Amino acid sequence: MTPPSPAGGAPARRLAEPRSRLQFLPGVGPERARHFERLELFTVEDLLRHYPRAWLDARRFVAIEGLAPGTLLTVRGRVRQAAALRTRGGRTDFSLTLEDGTGRLGCYFFGQGFLARTLKVGVDVVVSGEVDAHERTMLNPMFEVLEGDVAELLHVGRLVPVHALTRGLSARLMRRAVRAALEDCADQVPDPLPAAVAAAHGFPSLGASLRAIHFPADEAERSRARERLAFEELFVLQSVLECRRGLVAAAGRRAPRAGSGALVERAVRGLPWPLTDDQRRALEEITADLVGPHAMHRLLLGDVGSGKTVVALLAALHVVEGGHRVAFMAPTEILARQHGATLRRLAAPVGVPIEVVTGSTPAAERRALEARLREAEPRVVVGTHALLEDKLAIPDLGLAIVDEQHRFGVRQRATLTSKGAVPDLLVLTATPIPRTLTLAWFGDLDVSRLAARPAGRGRLVTRVTGEEKFPQVLEFLARELDAGRQAYIVLPSIEESGRPDVRAAEAEFRRLRALPSLKRHALELLHGRLKADEKRRIMEGFASGAVAALVTTTVIEVGVDVANATLMIVESAERFGLTQLHQLRGRVGRGPHRSVCVLVAGPTAGALARERLAVLANSEDGFAIAEQDLRLRGPGEPWGTRQSGLPRLKLADLSRDETLLEDARRDARAVLAGDARLDAPEHAVLKRTLLDRYREALEMLVAG
Ligand code: ADP
Ligand code: MG
Repeated sequence: MTPPSPAGGAPARRLAEPRSRLQFLPGVGPERARHFERLELFTVEDLLRHYPRAWLDARRFVAIEGLAPGTLLTVRGRVRQAAALRTRGGRTDFSLTLEDGTGRLGCYFFGQGFLARTLKVGVDVVVSGEVDAHERTMLNPMFEVLEGDVAELLHVGRLVPVHALTRGLSARLMRRAVRAALEDCADQVPDPLPAAVAAAHGFPSLGASLRAIHFPADEAERSRARERLAFEELFVLQSVLECRRGLVAAAGRRAPRAGSGALVERAVRGLPWPLTDDQRRALEEITADLVGPHAMHRLLLGDVGSGKTVVALLAALHVVEGGHRVAFMAPTEILARQHGATLRRLAAPVGVPIEVVTGSTPAAERRALEARLREAEPRVVVGTHALLEDKLAIPDLGLAIVDEQHRFGVRQRATLTSKGAVPDLLVLTATPIPRTLTLAWFGDLDVSRLAARPAGRGRLVTRVTGEEKFPQVLEFLARELDAGRQAYIVLPSIEESGRPDVRAAEAEFRRLRALPSLKRHALELLHGRLKADEKRRIMEGFASGAVAALVTTTVIEVGVDVANATLMIVESAERFGLTQLHQLRGRVGRGPHRSVCVLVAGPTAGALARERLAVLANSEDGFAIAEQDLRLRGPGEPWGTRQSGLPRLKLADLSRDETLLEDARRDARAVLAGDARLDAPEHAVLKRTLLDRYREALEMLVAG
């Protein structure tokens, strides 16, 4: 079909297709296409998928005499006067007067003298804006020259889309480009949603939804489109996860790896306390995986202090008993050494050798370790990223454990597991992931949860206060240390940043050390830039009680376990996320003594920030806090897509779209259950979408 030739006999333009590069859209061209590229928009389809962030409701048309201040109103009129005005500052402004038969309205555009070329006397114009209370003028209103029907307006007098922009790309240019793309090929965009699925939900077509999401006729149309497109995102995401699950199951058949369980029983009997019911159940679930025919892919999810480590360590013993090696990866050197020590204590009565390797392990020692790993006797090797190095071979790796999984990417997880032939995988996370996010990001893993904290802990109180109360906080610190307890003082940054509200750890350390009330206590400064052996020395000092207080950054966020530490002071607390603060707080309240966490809001923290912090004072439930955090901040990087290799969601909102997500999951499972390789013609687009866009996510998991 040839498109109709535009009036005037100009040569017909070839209509853009979804895969055309953006420069071929009318009004774009190669120069402007580069600006679009900064937004990661390369093709016409990318642009169509660049959904608005919001819509301004400029649908209320009024006569000029009926204009009232305080709301977004739209006026249609004819330009009576127009003038570009040079200001003394050298800027050129533009002013015009509109008339509509009921009155006159002045409009003023700062720095937009160039408008004199379009908005000339006699031209019919529609403006949308708020009128000033006194002067009956609009400042910088949205505007559009009226050429055809009012219903065709793009920039005014409608639900006006607000797209993300970048330097060199105006809102008007963006809207025109989107309109051109919609006109050329909205109906040709390949739809990953199988027709049967879309029909079952009664969704509008993809083309209609794309038109409606950018330029909705009304809210109802927009919300149907949003639901349809959000569902599509979730459906694609769940399909990726489902494929990964299928690939894992297919690739993951192996002979059972676990031993008889006698070793684990002995180790459990040697523990100073009984396992909690949750720990027992998690261990049973893990054991069932280990003795089953498929490699385990399990997430052990539990709030800070819920006791994940011992569960993982017992799983490790199980696999060692079965005659295989185990790798246990922790995100920091401090944590790797701590786990190494715990594991040695646990394993001592049963005689399993435990190795520790980190970035600071000397070369000679590492060579000796490599040699020991080649010996017949199976063992556990605990380490940091150092475990990932190619040189470090772990023959017959049977189980890979990844602690604090959010600190590692999927790729690192895969690198570790690639050291063995289909090893079992157990990932631990203290990041309390809300249910919706578990489904969305970890849909390919089985989940064990530790809900209850072990008994026998002292109370943990959280207080929110301001900088003005800091002297009292320091008095309290001195009293706790005098009583033989230990404390953490956490700051958001290491060095003086020039911002008065961020007290740097270094400066704070010097200041606190000089305080007479703290003079007799050993204080140490601990942060990520210290040398590894320096860190180790300080941490060992803190663990043994020789160091009374640590002034530190978030390096201690994860995992550190010192039961005698009873006070956590967080300065400029508003700079941390709630979940992060909850993790920090988890460092205290681990022993029998009453513990206190003081969140000190910095001088610039507003009422809202303090309110946010109050959520923590009122809840100890990491999951509830994570849900709050999700509502307040949206799903941020802690669970972000970069780590998971999964697509970023544009429209779907995991804090609201739980039902949609569950539907998408059910539908994706049904589709893949009936057509695991997506070979049916009606699944061709879905298959191509998964392969084109998510090949990496799929491959990473095949490798892992
Ligand atoms: P997390 O889940 O945050 O990694 P840990 O594994 O570090 O928590 O455990 C926190 C503390 O609880 C440790 O000191 C550990 O020894 C202790 N602990 C673990 N399980 C139990 C239990 N069943 N009873 C009492 N204390 C326990
Ligand atoms: Mg831990």
